[in-house]
Amino acid sequence: MQINVSQLLQEPIGALRDYKVNEVIDIKGDGTGSAVEGECRLLRTQRSILATCSLRTAVELTCSRCLGQFSHHLKLKFEEEYLPTVDVATGAPMPPPEEASTFTIDEHHILDLTEAVRQYSLLAIPMKPLCSEDCAGICQNCGKNLNQGSCGCPKQYTDPRWSELTKLL
Ligand SMILES: [Zn+2]
Ligand SMILES: [Zn+2]
Repeated sequence: MQINVSQLLQEPIGALRDYKVNEVIDIKGDGTGSAVEGECRLLRTQRSILATCSLRTAVELTCSRCLGQFSHHLKLKFEEEYLPTVDVATGAPMPPPEEASTFTIDEHHILDLTEAVRQYSLLAIPMKPLCSEDCAGICQNCGKNLNQGSCGCPKQYTDPRWSELTKLL
């Protein structure tokens, strides 16, 4: 998701560029590609380029209840500032940003949105993903995925908390 911003950097403050995004990136770093689509607007500010993006993508997740794989859609909206590392007019290096986590535009005036998209996608992934709100989970007894139909196990299994009580009685 690399955009050459050498032109935009030479324009006055307030100059805008709109970009359509349609690319595949590896969000989870596991070699699987996710298609990312949407729009990004780049705004020339006094010291930087401000990217405002509205994107959609999907990642493959494992359901925390039934352990099934499913595709989870993500909507990403973010605004990030990208600081130039060289002066576009003179080619002279700029002082590095105060915060190491600041996004930068490289010496060839390439603004790369990939890392921001990756970070915002990871933040948007739920801690305990569910394939659906009413996921039936797996049978405690035989391990069958109950979304694919019921298993042959008897309906009432003994809750381990109650079996301790039963022993006392
Ligand atoms: Zn599930
Ligand atoms: Zn079962």
